[in-house]
Amino acid sequence: MKTQQPIKLSLATMGGHEQEYVKEAFDTGWVVPLGPNVDGFETALAEYLGGGRRVVALSSGTAAIHLALIELGVGAGDEVVCQSFTFAASANPIVYLGATPVLVDSEPGTWNISPVLLEEAIVDRKAKTGHYPVAIIAVHLYGMPARMEEICTIAARYGIPVIEDAAEALGSEYKGDKCGTLGDFGVLSFNGNKIITTSGGGALVCRTAGQAAHALFLATQARESRPYYHHETIGYNYRLSNVCAGIGRGQMRVLPRFVARRRRIHTLYSELFREVEEIEVMENPDAGFDSNFWLTCIALKGGKRGATPDKVRLHLASVDVEARLLWKPLHLQPVFSRTPAYIDGTSERVFAGGLCIPSGSSLTDGDVERVASEVIKIVKNEMAG
Ligand SMILES: *Cc1c(COP(=O)(O)O)cnc(C)c1O
Repeated sequence: MKTQQPIKLSLATMGGHEQEYVKEAFDTGWVVPLGPNVDGFETALAEYLGGGRRVVALSSGTAAIHLALIELGVGAGDEVVCQSFTFAASANPIVYLGATPVLVDSEPGTWNISPVLLEEAIVDRKAKTGHYPVAIIAVHLYGMPARMEEICTIAARYGIPVIEDAAEALGSEYKGDKCGTLGDFGVLSFNGNKIITTSGGGALVCRTAGQAAHALFLATQARESRPYYHHETIGYNYRLSNVCAGIGRGQMRVLPRFVARRRRIHTLYSELFREVEEIEVMENPDAGFDSNFWLTCIALKGGKRGATPDKVRLHLASVDVEARLLWKPLHLQPVFSRTPAYIDGTSERVFAGGLCIPSGSSLTDGDVERVASEVIKIVKNEMAG
């Protein structure tokens, strides 16, 4: 007997106005990678982020990281520091450029790059290679802001620019400023399961109009303004379609509501798990951090006798609830096995005990209660058995 609806990890949720903007693109003939929806989406993002930032809408978050690295002059033979505990897309563009990632472990409070290990890595790379890394990619994993003040202080000490991978953190704030506006460049993603979606897309957040104009130039095949096609630089086809940007404009109208909803879902989980000593919910470390809680993550504290994240995941799957293990740290990925890494075990520990549970903006309180009771059931069972 199966009567309950499946519950997904983070389904794309439409706000209701997306199709109007998409229809407008069709009706006005702007079915191309530029146009009024692209402009409108960029403006809406810039206004939402604040801080006078310029936003360039792109075909993906990965493209945004690639362009940020190019804008910073990263090239073959350079080294770029990247948080190890993240999705591979954070680091892949380093390799596209013939540069080498230097992977750095996390600290336990945010699960993001450890400022202590970051400085160790910078100093050690200089000692070993004679050069400092040329950029730092800090990630706000699951929406939780990284310790940006410490990171930016260290970066400034060695003159190294910071790229914020805020792909999961649109709406998150650190000390009152929006994630994506804290580094030299910010990166956003609008892939299908992110807090808002354009079906696929991303954006580069720039400090100056000049940087934004240059990134836009590179993203449109580095076409010089001549009456014929004239190229002096290698370009990329990275612009966002005006059709997809229409979805984005609709999504921007509901983004504040989605952020509030994801935070509310996280609070509900925290309340429901409060009395369960085997489960710890990932929380903001202090008042300076305000995660969007794109995904609520839990850490299982049962130790050897307790439920493993995968046992919990499989039990949830058996009752039609989708959960996911955490990002497997990049230094454990075969493709990065020969990459220099500065590791103290934090991300491996977190990965071994953690689980992402359903957090989509359209979940009802009843859905959250159902997920929590299934998690508690399996965790208690495992402890007893
Ligand atoms: C989704 C994601 C990206 C890549 O974004 P795409 O739009 O899918 O290319 C990069 N970094 C992190 C942390 C992500 O979660």
